[in-house]
Amino acid sequence: MICLGIESTAHTLGISIINDKSKRVLSNIINAYKTKTGGIVPSRVADHHAEAVKPALRKALEKARINITNIDLIAFSQGPGLGHTLRIGAGLARSLSVLLKKPLVGVNHCIAHLEIGRFLTRAEDPVLLYVSGANTQVIAYEAGRYRVFGETLDLGVGNFLDGFARELGLGFPGGPRIEEFAKKGKEYIKLPYSVKGMDISLGGLDTNLKQKIRSGKYSKTDLCFSVQETVFAMLVEVAERAMAHTGKNELLLGGGVACNKRLQEMCRIMTRERGAKTFILPNEFLVDNAAMIGITGLEMYKAGMSTSLRDAGIRPYERTDDVRVEWR
Ligand code: AMP
Ligand code: MG
Repeated sequence: MICLGIESTAHTLGISIINDKSKRVLSNIINAYKTKTGGIVPSRVADHHAEAVKPALRKALEKARINITNIDLIAFSQGPGLGHTLRIGAGLARSLSVLLKKPLVGVNHCIAHLEIGRFLTRAEDPVLLYVSGANTQVIAYEAGRYRVFGETLDLGVGNFLDGFARELGLGFPGGPRIEEFAKKGKEYIKLPYSVKGMDISLGGLDTNLKQKIRSGKYSKTDLCFSVQETVFAMLVEVAERAMAHTGKNELLLGGGVACNKRLQEMCRIMTRERGAKTFILPNEFLVDNAAMIGITGLEMYKAGMSTSLRDAGIRPYERTDDVRVEWR
């Protein structure tokens, strides 16, 4: 089977083509909305996606050397995400489904970050540390659902990093800039550390950092270094607690923040110390991408799941554990 995947939950418009038989990602086109300063405005991102759709679709088909009539299945990210942008992907999915007379599968974006790891690595039943812009969750499979064992109580870690970077005048996305600055940091500045069971909270740290930046007493590089050390330690702590709680010994990373080499290193150290293993995908599959949507859609469809046109509306607030996992 050949599946066309569509991603549009937030800043990224993605189109992918997946070949189920060869277990190969034939193409994975990613067009991410970026700004030099400031954050993202949903209506502007939606305009970006609307313009990006046609060239991305053409590129995905060309790169995969597939004619659109050979598509067997259309998978799209149905939620959670921004209403403005989800509508672009869902609209495209519904149109293609009607035009090509092919079935449709609506996919949960967070679950897709985990499923792509099971598809492309040897991980079988991992705990996923999902760290993206809006989402920060520790997810694992238990009794028919992907359950959220821990999450942020307020800000998503990526949005937190982006806000911090904006305050420092570094532009969007801020995570990669912070990583560069952190490498030059020398002195650790003590910062609030807030882990509550398997959850984390970043609001207090956010306020504290704004005060520190405005005081003008600290260097950008030391602040970036200290923010990474503090926040990543919080993430690794909750991930480890979820592994201990579920008895699982595989850790998978997902989300744009997982591109960070220092976070990857800290995860590897943690899993090595407990005789477990960390799985890290190439960056193009960590950030928001349509390959994970196509892959998950295929798994769902093979298990007999599909989405009727009537049910193919967007689900901006869908939670990871709303979905019944019938494919594993
Ligand atoms: P996603 O929503 O999964 O595509 O992830 C986007 C988020 O990942 C943004 O908040 C980025 O700032 C963040 N990000 C991307 N690369 C890095 C990096 N190297 N270090 C930290 N955060 C990053
Ligand atoms: Mg994501």
